[in-house]
Amino acid sequence: MNKTIGIPRGMFYYDYYILWEEFFKNLNTKVVISPKTNKDILNRGISTCVDEACLPVKVFHGHVDYLKDKVDYIFIPKFISLYKREYCCPKHLGLPDMVKHSIEDLPEIIEPIINLRNTNKTFKKAVLETGEYFLNSKKDILKAYDLAYGKWNEFNKLMCLDLININEIGLEWNGKQKLKPCVEENYNKTILLLGHTYNIYDNYINMNIGKKLIDNNIKIITVEMVEEIISRHYANTLPKRMFWTQGQKIVGSTFSLIDRKAIDGIIYISAFGCGLDSVLLELVERKAKDNNLPFTLITIDEQTGEAGVNTRLEAFLDMLDWREKNEDNISTYG
Ligand code: SF4
Repeated sequence: MNKTIGIPRGMFYYDYYILWEEFFKNLNTKVVISPKTNKDILNRGISTCVDEACLPVKVFHGHVDYLKDKVDYIFIPKFISLYKREYCCPKHLGLPDMVKHSIEDLPEIIEPIINLRNTNKTFKKAVLETGEYFLNSKKDILKAYDLAYGKWNEFNKLMCLDLININEIGLEWNGKQKLKPCVEENYNKTILLLGHTYNIYDNYINMNIGKKLIDNNIKIITVEMVEEIISRHYANTLPKRMFWTQGQKIVGSTFSLIDRKAIDGIIYISAFGCGLDSVLLELVERKAKDNNLPFTLITIDEQTGEAGVNTRLEAFLDMLDWREKNEDNISTYG
Protein backbone atom coordinates (compact mmCIF):
# COMPACT_ATOMS: atom_id res chain seq x y z
CA MET A 1 0.00 0.00 0.00
CA ASN A 2 1.19 3.54 -0.77
CA LYS A 3 2.61 5.47 2.16
CA THR A 4 0.86 8.64 3.24
CA ILE A 5 2.56 12.00 3.64
CA GLY A 6 1.03 14.87 5.57
CA ILE A 7 1.66 18.48 4.56
CA PRO A 8 0.71 21.02 7.24
CA ARG A 9 -1.17 23.99 5.78
CA GLY A 10 0.98 26.66 7.36
CA MET A 11 4.20 28.71 7.04
CA PHE A 12 5.85 28.14 3.62
CA TYR A 13 2.98 25.89 2.52
CA TYR A 14 1.46 28.93 0.81
CA ASP A 15 4.64 29.53 -1.20
CA TYR A 16 5.35 25.98 -2.27
CA TYR A 17 2.24 23.85 -1.99
CA ILE A 18 1.98 23.21 -5.73
CA LEU A 19 5.60 22.11 -5.88
CA TRP A 20 5.35 19.82 -2.84
CA GLU A 21 2.00 18.29 -3.62
CA GLU A 22 2.95 17.54 -7.21
CA PHE A 23 6.33 16.14 -6.22
CA PHE A 24 4.85 13.69 -3.73
CA LYS A 25 2.09 12.68 -6.10
CA ASN A 26 4.70 12.03 -8.80
CA LEU A 27 6.43 9.75 -6.29
CA ASN A 28 3.19 7.72 -6.06
CA THR A 29 2.57 8.89 -2.53
CA LYS A 30 -0.78 9.69 -1.01
CA VAL A 31 -0.78 13.33 0.06
CA VAL A 32 -2.89 14.57 2.97
CA ILE A 33 -3.02 18.32 3.48
CA SER A 34 -4.43 19.57 6.75
CA PRO A 35 -7.66 21.58 6.40
CA LYS A 36 -7.82 25.34 6.30
CA THR A 37 -7.06 26.91 9.64
CA ASN A 38 -10.06 26.88 11.93
CA LYS A 39 -10.77 27.26 15.64
CA ASP A 40 -9.82 23.67 16.44
CA ILE A 41 -6.47 23.97 14.62
CA LEU A 42 -5.67 27.28 16.27
CA ASN A 43 -6.48 25.84 19.71
CA ARG A 44 -4.29 22.80 19.04
CA GLY A 45 -1.47 25.18 18.07
CA ILE A 46 -1.88 27.34 21.15
CA SER A 47 -1.89 24.34 23.48
CA THR A 48 1.14 22.60 21.94
CA CYS A 49 3.45 25.47 20.97
CA VAL A 50 5.54 27.65 23.27
CA ASP A 51 3.85 30.92 24.28
CA GLU A 52 6.60 33.16 22.88
CA ALA A 53 6.21 31.96 19.28
CA CYS A 54 4.54 34.14 16.65
CA LEU A 55 1.01 33.30 15.54
CA PRO A 56 1.97 31.58 12.24
CA VAL A 57 4.29 29.20 14.10
CA LYS A 58 1.52 28.37 16.59
CA VAL A 59 -0.92 27.79 13.75
CA PHE A 60 1.64 25.52 12.08
CA HIS A 61 1.84 23.43 15.26
CA GLY A 62 -1.96 23.12 15.16
CA HIS A 63 -1.82 21.76 11.61
CA VAL A 64 0.87 19.23 12.55
CA ASP A 65 -1.14 18.13 15.58
CA TYR A 66 -4.17 17.63 13.35
CA LEU A 67 -2.20 15.44 10.92
CA LYS A 68 -0.17 13.37 13.33
CA ASP A 69 -2.55 10.38 13.66
CA LYS A 70 -3.58 10.36 10.03
CA VAL A 71 -0.34 9.91 8.07
CA ASP A 72 2.87 7.86 7.93
CA TYR A 73 5.13 10.89 7.58
CA ILE A 74 4.90 14.65 8.00
CA PHE A 75 6.86 16.94 5.71
CA ILE A 76 8.55 19.88 7.48
CA PRO A 77 11.56 21.23 5.55
CA LYS A 78 14.18 23.10 7.46
CA PHE A 79 14.55 26.36 5.52
CA ILE A 80 17.89 27.97 6.27
CA SER A 81 18.62 29.85 3.08
CA LEU A 82 16.88 30.17 -0.29
CA TYR A 83 19.49 32.35 -2.01
CA LYS A 84 23.21 32.92 -1.88
CA ARG A 85 24.18 35.12 1.06
CA GLU A 86 20.61 35.32 2.29
CA TYR A 87 18.68 33.75 5.16
CA CYS A 88 15.14 32.83 6.13
CA CYS A 89 13.63 33.87 9.44
CA PRO A 90 15.14 31.76 12.26
CA LYS A 91 11.67 30.40 13.04
CA HIS A 92 11.66 28.61 9.68
CA LEU A 93 15.06 27.21 10.38
CA GLY A 94 14.03 25.81 13.75
CA LEU A 95 10.56 24.66 12.75
CA PRO A 96 11.06 20.86 12.58
CA ASP A 97 12.95 20.82 15.88
CA MET A 98 10.40 23.03 17.58
CA VAL A 99 7.57 20.79 16.45
CA LYS A 100 9.36 17.63 17.58
CA HIS A 101 9.96 19.09 21.01
CA SER A 102 6.42 20.38 21.43
CA ILE A 103 4.16 17.65 20.05
CA GLU A 104 4.14 14.07 21.30
CA ASP A 105 3.51 10.86 19.37
CA LEU A 106 4.48 12.24 15.99
CA PRO A 107 4.99 10.02 12.96
CA GLU A 108 8.41 10.26 11.29
CA ILE A 109 9.18 13.82 10.21
CA ILE A 110 10.77 14.25 6.77
CA GLU A 111 12.92 17.33 7.25
CA PRO A 112 15.22 18.04 4.31
CA ILE A 113 17.63 20.91 4.87
CA ILE A 114 17.28 23.72 2.34
CA ASN A 115 20.45 25.73 2.60
CA LEU A 116 21.49 27.54 -0.58
CA ARG A 117 23.58 30.15 1.19
CA ASN A 118 26.84 29.01 -0.41
CA THR A 119 25.80 26.77 -3.27
CA ASN A 120 22.68 25.48 -5.03
CA LYS A 121 24.13 21.98 -5.17
CA THR A 122 22.80 21.07 -1.72
CA PHE A 123 19.29 21.37 -3.09
CA LYS A 124 19.58 18.23 -5.21
CA LYS A 125 20.65 16.35 -2.10
CA ALA A 126 17.53 17.56 -0.25
CA VAL A 127 15.30 16.45 -3.12
CA LEU A 128 16.90 13.00 -3.26
CA GLU A 129 16.81 12.51 0.50
CA THR A 130 13.11 13.26 0.50
CA GLY A 131 12.31 11.15 -2.55
CA GLU A 132 14.20 8.13 -1.24
CA TYR A 133 11.52 7.59 1.39
CA PHE A 134 9.22 6.55 -1.44
CA LEU A 135 11.27 5.55 -4.51
CA ASN A 136 14.61 3.83 -5.01
CA SER A 137 15.55 5.26 -8.37
CA LYS A 138 17.43 8.59 -8.19
CA LYS A 139 16.55 9.22 -11.80
CA ASP A 140 12.82 8.81 -11.14
CA ILE A 141 12.99 11.02 -8.08
CA LEU A 142 14.65 13.84 -10.01
CA LYS A 143 12.15 13.42 -12.84
CA ALA A 144 9.28 13.64 -10.34
CA TYR A 145 10.79 16.83 -8.98
CA ASP A 146 11.39 18.40 -12.41
CA LEU A 147 7.77 17.82 -13.41
CA ALA A 148 6.53 19.36 -10.16
CA TYR A 149 8.90 22.30 -10.51
CA GLY A 150 7.60 22.97 -14.04
CA LYS A 151 4.04 23.17 -12.78
CA TRP A 152 4.96 25.41 -9.85
CA ASN A 153 6.96 27.69 -12.12
CA GLU A 154 4.04 27.97 -14.52
CA PHE A 155 1.77 28.97 -11.65
CA ASN A 156 4.18 31.66 -10.51
CA LYS A 157 4.35 33.09 -14.02
CA LEU A 158 0.57 33.28 -14.15
CA MET A 159 0.56 35.10 -10.82
CA CYS A 160 2.96 37.65 -12.23
CA LEU A 161 0.87 38.10 -15.33
CA ASP A 162 -1.94 38.96 -12.98
CA LEU A 163 -4.18 36.41 -14.61
CA ILE A 164 -4.60 33.73 -12.05
CA ASN A 165 -7.81 33.03 -10.24
CA ILE A 166 -7.19 34.23 -6.74
CA ASN A 167 -9.13 31.24 -5.47
CA GLU A 168 -6.27 29.03 -6.55
CA ILE A 169 -3.89 30.63 -4.13
CA GLY A 170 -6.02 29.56 -1.21
CA LEU A 171 -7.96 32.74 -0.72
CA GLU A 172 -11.36 31.45 -1.77
CA TRP A 173 -12.92 34.83 -1.88
CA ASN A 174 -15.60 34.39 -4.46
CA GLY A 175 -14.17 31.61 -6.54
CA LYS A 176 -14.57 33.51 -9.78
CA GLN A 177 -12.66 36.73 -9.59
CA LYS A 178 -9.86 37.00 -12.07
CA LEU A 179 -7.19 39.53 -11.34
CA LYS A 180 -7.20 41.93 -14.23
CA PRO A 181 -6.13 45.53 -14.63
CA CYS A 182 -8.08 47.85 -12.39
CA VAL A 183 -9.60 50.02 -15.11
CA GLU A 184 -10.96 47.07 -17.04
CA GLU A 185 -12.71 45.69 -14.01
CA ASN A 186 -14.00 48.96 -12.65
CA TYR A 187 -12.62 48.54 -9.17
CA ASN A 188 -12.89 51.42 -6.74
CA LYS A 189 -9.25 51.20 -5.68
CA THR A 190 -6.18 48.97 -5.84
CA ILE A 191 -4.68 47.97 -2.51
CA LEU A 192 -1.45 46.16 -1.80
CA LEU A 193 -2.20 43.48 0.80
CA LEU A 194 1.25 43.15 2.26
CA GLY A 195 2.92 40.64 4.54
CA HIS A 196 4.16 37.07 4.75
CA THR A 197 2.19 34.61 2.63
CA TYR A 198 0.95 32.69 5.70
CA ASN A 199 -0.62 35.88 7.04
CA ILE A 200 -2.08 37.07 3.75
CA TYR A 201 -3.49 33.78 2.48
CA ASP A 202 -4.76 32.28 5.73
CA ASN A 203 -8.25 33.72 5.93
CA TYR A 204 -8.87 32.48 9.43
CA ILE A 205 -5.98 34.25 11.08
CA ASN A 206 -6.36 37.46 9.08
CA MET A 207 -10.12 37.63 9.74
CA ASN A 208 -10.98 37.41 6.06
CA ILE A 209 -9.51 40.78 5.19
CA GLY A 210 -9.30 39.79 1.53
CA LYS A 211 -13.01 39.06 1.29
CA LYS A 212 -13.82 42.31 3.06
CA LEU A 213 -11.78 44.28 0.53
CA ILE A 214 -13.38 42.50 -2.39
CA ASP A 215 -16.82 43.21 -0.93
CA ASN A 216 -15.81 46.88 -1.07
CA ASN A 217 -14.94 46.52 -4.75
CA ILE A 218 -11.22 46.81 -4.11
CA LYS A 219 -8.68 45.13 -6.32
CA ILE A 220 -6.01 43.35 -4.30
CA ILE A 221 -2.38 43.03 -5.24
CA THR A 222 0.03 40.82 -3.34
CA VAL A 223 3.81 40.73 -3.62
CA GLU A 224 3.61 37.35 -5.34
CA MET A 225 2.29 39.23 -8.36
CA VAL A 226 5.53 41.15 -8.80
CA GLU A 227 8.22 39.35 -10.78
CA GLU A 228 11.23 38.38 -8.76
CA ILE A 229 13.65 40.13 -11.09
CA ILE A 230 11.78 43.40 -10.46
CA SER A 231 11.46 43.03 -6.69
CA ARG A 232 15.16 42.18 -6.40
CA HIS A 233 16.12 45.17 -8.51
CA TYR A 234 14.21 47.50 -6.18
CA ALA A 235 15.42 45.77 -3.01
CA ASN A 236 18.96 46.41 -4.23
CA THR A 237 18.33 50.16 -4.08
CA LEU A 238 18.39 49.97 -0.28
CA PRO A 239 21.55 51.48 1.20
CA LYS A 240 22.21 48.27 3.13
CA ARG A 241 21.85 44.79 1.62
CA MET A 242 18.67 43.00 2.73
CA PHE A 243 19.83 39.56 3.80
CA TRP A 244 16.40 38.08 4.53
CA THR A 245 14.86 36.59 1.42
CA GLN A 246 11.35 37.36 2.64
CA GLY A 247 12.46 40.95 3.15
CA GLN A 248 13.78 41.20 -0.42
CA LYS A 249 10.38 40.19 -1.70
CA ILE A 250 8.26 42.35 0.59
CA VAL A 251 10.34 45.53 0.41
CA GLY A 252 11.41 45.23 -3.25
CA SER A 253 7.91 44.50 -4.54
CA THR A 254 6.38 47.30 -2.50
CA PHE A 255 8.96 49.84 -3.67
CA SER A 256 8.35 48.82 -7.28
CA LEU A 257 4.57 49.17 -6.95
CA ILE A 258 4.89 52.56 -5.26
CA ASP A 259 7.31 53.88 -7.87
CA ARG A 260 5.10 52.61 -10.69
CA LYS A 261 2.08 54.25 -9.00
CA ALA A 262 0.26 50.94 -9.27
CA ILE A 263 -1.51 51.09 -5.90
CA ASP A 264 -3.78 53.46 -3.98
CA GLY A 265 -2.78 52.25 -0.52
CA ILE A 266 -1.10 49.56 1.55
CA ILE A 267 -2.47 47.30 4.26
CA TYR A 268 0.32 45.49 6.09
CA ILE A 269 -0.74 42.38 7.99
CA SER A 270 1.85 41.47 10.58
CA ALA A 271 2.02 38.86 13.32
CA PHE A 272 2.53 40.34 16.77
CA GLY A 273 6.18 40.14 17.81
CA CYS A 274 7.57 39.39 14.32
CA GLY A 275 11.20 40.50 14.36
CA LEU A 276 11.52 40.68 10.57
CA ASP A 277 8.41 42.75 10.19
CA SER A 278 9.59 45.32 12.70
CA VAL A 279 12.37 46.18 10.23
CA LEU A 280 10.44 45.69 6.98
CA LEU A 281 7.53 47.76 8.25
CA GLU A 282 9.76 50.69 8.98
CA LEU A 283 11.22 50.64 5.45
CA VAL A 284 7.86 50.26 3.73
CA GLU A 285 6.09 52.82 5.89
CA ARG A 286 8.81 55.40 5.29
CA LYS A 287 8.63 54.89 1.52
CA ALA A 288 4.81 55.17 1.62
CA LYS A 289 5.05 58.36 3.64
CA ASP A 290 7.59 59.90 1.24
CA ASN A 291 5.13 59.23 -1.57
CA ASN A 292 2.08 60.38 0.36
CA LEU A 293 0.56 56.93 -0.01
CA PRO A 294 -2.01 55.72 2.57
CA PHE A 295 -0.69 52.96 4.79
CA THR A 296 -2.13 51.00 7.68
CA LEU A 297 -0.86 48.18 9.84
CA ILE A 298 -3.05 45.37 11.13
CA THR A 299 -1.35 43.29 13.80
CA ILE A 300 -2.66 39.79 14.40
CA ASP A 301 -2.25 37.34 17.25
CA GLU A 302 -4.44 34.70 18.83
CA GLN A 303 -6.32 37.39 20.79
CA THR A 304 -7.19 39.52 17.76
CA GLY A 305 -10.91 40.18 17.51
CA GLU A 306 -12.73 40.57 14.22
CA ALA A 307 -14.55 43.73 15.39
CA GLY A 308 -11.23 45.54 15.89
CA VAL A 309 -9.98 44.52 12.44
CA ASN A 310 -13.26 45.64 10.85
CA THR A 311 -13.02 49.04 12.52
CA ARG A 312 -9.46 49.61 11.31
CA LEU A 313 -10.32 48.49 7.82
CA GLU A 314 -13.41 50.68 7.60
CA ALA A 315 -11.46 53.69 8.89
CA PHE A 316 -8.76 53.08 6.29
CA LEU A 317 -11.20 52.74 3.41
CA ASP A 318 -13.11 55.86 4.55
CA MET A 319 -9.83 57.73 4.65
CA LEU A 320 -9.07 56.66 1.06
CA ASP A 321 -12.45 57.98 -0.05
CA TRP A 322 -12.05 61.27 1.80
CA ARG A 323 -8.61 61.77 0.31
CA GLU A 324 -10.02 61.32 -3.15
CA LYS A 325 -12.51 64.10 -2.49
CA ASN A 326 -10.24 66.37 -0.43
CA GLU A 327 -6.78 65.71 -1.87
CA ASP A 328 -3.87 66.28 0.53
CA ASN A 329 -5.97 67.40 3.48
CA ILE A 330 -6.28 63.97 5.05
CA SER A 331 -3.61 62.09 6.90
CA THR A 332 -2.29 59.10 4.95
CA TYR A 333 -2.11 56.83 8.00
CA GLY A 334 -5.04 54.72 9.11
S1 SF4 B 1 9.00 36.09 9.72
FE1 SF4 B 1 7.83 36.79 11.50
S2 SF4 B 1 5.81 35.86 11.29
FE2 SF4 B 1 7.24 34.72 9.96
S3 SF4 B 1 7.95 33.02 11.19
FE3 SF4 B 1 9.44 34.68 11.41
S4 SF4 B 1 8.77 35.77 13.27
FE4 SF4 B 1 7.04 34.49 12.58
